[in-house]
Amino acid sequence: MFEHTDYDEHERVLYVRDAASGLRAIMAIHSSVLGPAFGGCRMWPYAHEEDALTDALRLSRGMTFKSAICDLPFGGGKSVIVGDPARDKTPELLLAVGHAVEELGGRYIIADDVGTTLADLAIMRKVTQHTAAASQCAQQPLAVTAYGVFNAMVAAVEHVYGQSDFTGLRVAVQGLGNVGRPLCDRLYAHGAKLFVSDLNAQRVRRAASELNATPVAPDEIYQQQVDIFSPCALGSILNGHTIPRLNVRVICGGANNQLMQDDYASLLHQRNILYVPDYLANAGGVIDFHQESIDDRPAAVLAAVERIRAITQSVLRDAQELGRTPVQVANDRVRARIAQHNEPPT
Ligand code: NAD
Repeated sequence: MFEHTDYDEHERVLYVRDAASGLRAIMAIHSSVLGPAFGGCRMWPYAHEEDALTDALRLSRGMTFKSAICDLPFGGGKSVIVGDPARDKTPELLLAVGHAVEELGGRYIIADDVGTTLADLAIMRKVTQHTAAASQCAQQPLAVTAYGVFNAMVAAVEHVYGQSDFTGLRVAVQGLGNVGRPLCDRLYAHGAKLFVSDLNAQRVRRAASELNATPVAPDEIYQQQVDIFSPCALGSILNGHTIPRLNVRVICGGANNQLMQDDYASLLHQRNILYVPDYLANAGGVIDFHQESIDDRPAAVLAAVERIRAITQSVLRDAQELGRTPVQVANDRVRARIAQHNEPPT
């Protein structure tokens, strides 16, 4: 594990096995320097344990970066359960996850993610308090991640095009799920012309009829002649195969770990494509979690998520002034904040 390419000084990586419920899970705490590690619980039928470990390491690191760039008092963690949620998810298995979280004594706070739901967290709460979405208000779906991506995109559009609405702009959105679809709704309401792809043909048809979106085949989304590309489906989609095909000025989306490797940010920079760091654009969920402990009314939560716009503006400004990529600027801010916290008081 210490030799793994995605190992980044993670504090703890736990392998959790519960024979009675069939649980096989990995819990990664990347950092708890700034506060308890916060992060979702993904359940996925990973073909290889190696893939589950890679996801746990990359996603937990991303959570540290989301919290730190937004100045929140949390670190980053993630759990991944190896299994098919439709077949293998049982109350016993979820309770076993809850027990493992409880054993960490509050060092890790677990949230929902792909393959898990708020109802699953409610089951875990029978044995641990260290879960997200415990309040009444948190039960209402608010599409906070989509709202954060929208705000980051507004900042990028202001920076590149000098306008704060989307009139006349064409946006290609990859993935019309929990993040992509509400993002499309907002973009359409603000004047964007949408080009959409999803493996689920019904979702594409709905967006075409309700938002006048142009359907695009999944593999063709990369070469659309558009202004903005918004990846809202999968990770690692910005790589040596796709970047040369892009015809856009801005990339800003909700998917985690969009760059196959961090240094692809430089390739995008060379191609004059502005890439908003994914962990900044999609930090709406962790801002929401923090806000719920202060004022969990929907208007207050959305107002808190709007901070992503100002943070993005300042990262893009610094990147331009310093001739660096937004990823380099944002990563440096994160590392500086963690280092400052680690310094002994004078
Ligand atoms: P989701 O499962 O609700 O939706 C994903 C959609 O992408 C599905 O409709 C799926 O059919 C589609 N898709 C999958 N492969 C595709 C492909 N090759 N081309 C086009 N479409 C494809 O997931 P979500 O909650 O919307 O999350 C989307 C991304 O955002 C994920 O990477 C997730 O990790 C990330 N993210 C989500 C949240 C959140 O609050 N839901 C928060 C932070 C980050």
